Amino acid sequence: MAHGAGGSAMDALIKRYMLKHFAGSSAEVPLEALDDAAVIDGIVLKSDSYTVKPLFFPGGDIGRMAVAGTVNDMSVLGAEPLALAAGFVFEEGFPLYDLERILTSMDETCKEAGVAVITGDTKVVEHGALDKFIINSSGVGRRSPLLDRNLTEVRKFRESEAKWLLDSNIRAGDQIILSGAVADHGIAVLSAREGYGFETKIQSDAAPLNHMIARALEVGGVVSMKDPTRGGLANLLNEWSEKSKVGILIHEERIPVHTGVRAACEMLGLDPLEVGNEGKVVLAVVSQKAEQVLAALRSTDLGREAEIIGRATDEFNLVAVQTSVGGRRILAKPFGDPVPRIC
Ligand code: MG
Repeated sequence: MAHGAGGSAMDALIKRYMLKHFAGSSAEVPLEALDDAAVIDGIVLKSDSYTVKPLFFPGGDIGRMAVAGTVNDMSVLGAEPLALAAGFVFEEGFPLYDLERILTSMDETCKEAGVAVITGDTKVVEHGALDKFIINSSGVGRRSPLLDRNLTEVRKFRESEAKWLLDSNIRAGDQIILSGAVADHGIAVLSAREGYGFETKIQSDAAPLNHMIARALEVGGVVSMKDPTRGGLANLLNEWSEKSKVGILIHEERIPVHTGVRAACEMLGLDPLEVGNEGKVVLAVVSQKAEQVLAALRSTDLGREAEIIGRATDEFNLVAVQTSVGGRRILAKPFGDPVPRIC
């Protein structure tokens, strides 16, 4: 299960088995960049599969995630999502009532994001051949008109050849902004699956983030963006640190965690920084623009709890957390998300 949980185990699987077959294309942002999406001939392309268990949970369902996740992975690169393709595989006997609920939710989330599903595929397998229902959603997008304006702002403060908001763009001094509280999604799904009963208070954050991201790009100065999904904030920051070859120092007390989620994590022995999210984005911003980008995020409904949580540094080359009691600890890349099958 760890091989599908977004941490170092999955990273090793991809590098050892996938890249040797598929790397080396002429894409502008190729597979081997292992970024949120790829770019070829100016077209942004992304594919995702959704296996969340249970299919319905507080704050969302597999359909909402399939639309939001694909929209978000294109948006964080600096793209405007254009359209989606959806592939459905379900077992025989799957209730058509549940199918309808999932499709209705996808339709509503598409409207929220301003995209449409324009092609797809449907397959049915024998009862028991898979666990109920799986969606593959793929998306195409094009360069957001706001991206060039954003990058012009970056170049006012430093030289940059960046064309897209890649994981490798971060430099020492960049400020790290988190758009809101972490671990809501993973804990909401886990609680619904195991019947812990936290779900009365804890809701998944699954949401399309393209409109909020547009507000940040309008301000400008954003050098990189990424959504902290499987493996959470810990995995994201380690990917940035590795690919950008910088250290990252974050301050524990600045990371928003909702009270109920914090209590649930303590009870279950989970680190909220390693738990997945489906409606958050982390931005690396040139320091001169960080306060303005923060204000733009906070002016949106989804970004009202945004915080500057730390900065990139050349003092060391790993991810460190300044703890609330004054010490520092290394934030390692998780082996995998501690909660499996959350997306
Ligand atoms: Mg992503």
